[in-house]
Amino acid sequence: MHTLFVTSEAYPLVKTGGLADVSGALPAALRQLGVDARLLLPAYTCVLDAIGTRDTGLLLPLLPGIEAARLRFGKMPDGETPVYVLDCPSLYQRAGDPYHDTQGLEWRDNDLRFAALSKAAALLATPEIAHNLDFHPQLIHCNDWQTSLTPAYQRYMPGKQPPTLLSIHNMAYQGVFTPKSLPSLGLPWESYSIQGLEFYGLVSFLKAGLFYADWLSTVSPTYAQEIQTEEFGYGLQGLLHNRRDSLTGLLNGIDEQQWNPATDTRLFAQYSSKDLRGKAHNKQELQRRLGLNLEAKTPLLACITRLTEQKGIDLVVKVLPQILAEGAQFVILGSGDKKLEQALSQLAASYPQQVSVTLGYNENLSHRIEAAADIFLMPSRFEPCGLNQMYSMSYGTLPIVRRTGGLADTVTPVTPANLDNRSATGFVFDHEDADALLQTTQYALVLYRQRGLWQSLQRNAMQRDFSWRRSAQAYLQLYQQLVGTAHNSIG
Ligand code: ADP
Repeated sequence: MHTLFVTSEAYPLVKTGGLADVSGALPAALRQLGVDARLLLPAYTCVLDAIGTRDTGLLLPLLPGIEAARLRFGKMPDGETPVYVLDCPSLYQRAGDPYHDTQGLEWRDNDLRFAALSKAAALLATPEIAHNLDFHPQLIHCNDWQTSLTPAYQRYMPGKQPPTLLSIHNMAYQGVFTPKSLPSLGLPWESYSIQGLEFYGLVSFLKAGLFYADWLSTVSPTYAQEIQTEEFGYGLQGLLHNRRDSLTGLLNGIDEQQWNPATDTRLFAQYSSKDLRGKAHNKQELQRRLGLNLEAKTPLLACITRLTEQKGIDLVVKVLPQILAEGAQFVILGSGDKKLEQALSQLAASYPQQVSVTLGYNENLSHRIEAAADIFLMPSRFEPCGLNQMYSMSYGTLPIVRRTGGLADTVTPVTPANLDNRSATGFVFDHEDADALLQTTQYALVLYRQRGLWQSLQRNAMQRDFSWRRSAQAYLQLYQQLVGTAHNSIG
């Protein structure tokens, strides 16, 4: 099985969120199962800096008026997974992140930047280029709106094209642009219809992918159901419902090379479910470094997150004074919404020995927080899968989550029955409001003080299998099914 995995970010080359974690880990896990999975991503400056690549000698004419892109080839830092990088300096070599400039504003030509990536994926699977590369993709695995135009381009290419799977990592981001961009995308006007790219008078990359891709997947079974409803579908729920027979929810896994407290070299001390002493050392060292009171018995609550409406951090800000009044500490690492950044900074200033706020992105610190904390707060309004609750559980840090998307699918709530059968791994609340978060946190703090019970919950959580092996197996089955099916079977 040969598959091309096309993505706009992949850890450790470039990361803004969970998509990068998945792109870094899933192709590698598929390779372990014998799939020749290769990545395609843009040659951002940081990507070229991170890995050595060689010129394949191929020049890809992608979009009208844009220089042809040079295709380069290298290996991911694991030394295993092959990666094609699309070298087009006018589109990708800039300061800033994959989607934003240094001021945090979206690049104005994101339509061109990600249409070019999508087009390149479609081209790589054409016989002539595949022959040149000696790599013949039987399937293209697209991810999110940034690569959603791939099946649209395929539609207008001659000959039989390999099937496409589009994985939706977050419906909140859709790549919506004005129809004026169509000619520069190199797609015919005919594609601008309700049976195509058109979405309420605009061009939607995600809509195009949802319409044209052979199969759709999303990153948890619950989210696969939720996006078929008005609340979570962003106007695309009807299309998703029509395609429900070709829509699968497959849970993400976690990369155990990166996230395993027994081997994580970023930690102050390693530990496992059999011996939790190292966790206490991590807590003490983090408290010291962040200037919090050195108190072993004080519950330490944590968040690591993009600061967006989605993540519900405004709810945390609301209830934090009451939680602190119970004698807890709070650590947050995140960046994003300026108002939230300000509110958090104010809390840190008001409670210097109890609250630590780090604004920015810091991979090392994120591991150290997971290891040091007792409780992880994730009151998301929606969460396609979520990774941090899984990292938390495997680090013995019990999550408090809202019952939505992948949070509902991965955290087994503390209930009398789940305590009895030793399946409970965290705390789950239903309503999207601050009171529900506060009450659940207060309940968790009561249990935290019952050390034996708490440790047994930690062990349940740490012994859960969140590895990619299981998920990769499910993706492989889906690939096999798709490779055996006809192209463009629109549901
Ligand atoms: P999303 O993709 O919606 O941001 P996920 O939970 O799926 O949420 O994945 C987020 C990933 O990004 C996790 O690996 C998390 O640890 C990481 N992350 C988020 N914010 C930061 C930050 N400020 N510093 C370091 N890592 C972060």
